[in-house]
Amino acid sequence: MQVTVIAATQSPMDVIGIAAGMCYGKPTPSPERVRRCAENGHMSVFEHATATLQIEDISRACLAQLTRHRIASYSVTSHRYCEVGGGDWCVIPPSVVGTDAESRFRAQASDAMWSYQAAIDEGAKFEDARYLLPEATKTSLVMTINARSLQNLLTLRLDSHAQWEIRSLAAEVEWVLMDYSKQWYTLMELLQEVRNGNC
Ligand SMILES: Cc1cc2nc3c(=O)[nH]c(=O)nc-3n(C[C@H](O)[C@H](O)[C@H](O)COP(=O)(O)OP(=O)(O)OC[C@H]3O[C@@H](n4cnc5c(N)ncnc54)[C@H](O)[C@@H]3O)c2cc1C
Repeated sequence: MQVTVIAATQSPMDVIGIAAGMCYGKPTPSPERVRRCAENGHMSVFEHATATLQIEDISRACLAQLTRHRIASYSVTSHRYCEVGGGDWCVIPPSVVGTDAESRFRAQASDAMWSYQAAIDEGAKFEDARYLLPEATKTSLVMTINARSLQNLLTLRLDSHAQWEIRSLAAEVEWVLMDYSKQWYTLMELLQEVRNGNC
């Protein structure tokens, strides 16, 4: 799995701060006002900051969970038009690695890939042959999400009840945005404090 920031609001704390200030007739953005909005649940102002992320090599199982988050935009590699293949085409769950299940998992995946390629060789379209592939099949996408929806996603998907792959995706998303710029670091840290109830 790899997550890269393609584009993001340049100064998210300023943009959210200006939006929050507009509500109260205060033109100058202030981080304190942004913090108060988060504390008070005035979350619509956070919709003005957005990030566009490239997410590579997650399983179709993880994709299905991610795209349940409706308040975001997605463009996903189509297995109708793109052939699946290469040496590293599926996600092996860490829980099976080193167990007896790993060899069964790999054997089943290999059989599925053999059948997929045979079907294509026999004239099936990619869009039909893909029915033979497992949920572990990797895919990639571009997602655009605003900071309010991102907060909802991180709340739900960093939680210990979330499945390991989307939990690690959520952690990676949080990390790359913190690393993107000083203001994104400040924003993500603030959202983290709100999630942890320290705000
Ligand atoms: C641990 C865990 C287990 C899950 N298990 C299952 C499962 O077994 N089966 C399953 O189907 N899903 C499951 N889900 C998915 C879950 O039900 C949500 O679909 C997913 O987390 C997206 O959350 P969301 O609706 O808040 O996000 P978004 O779709 O991004 O919506 C954001 C917010 O907008 C509002 N909103 C959006 N659409 C509507 C609407 N139509 N009406 C009213 N308000 C709306 C809500 O306040 C919502 O929280 C699971 C999620 C988690 C985290």
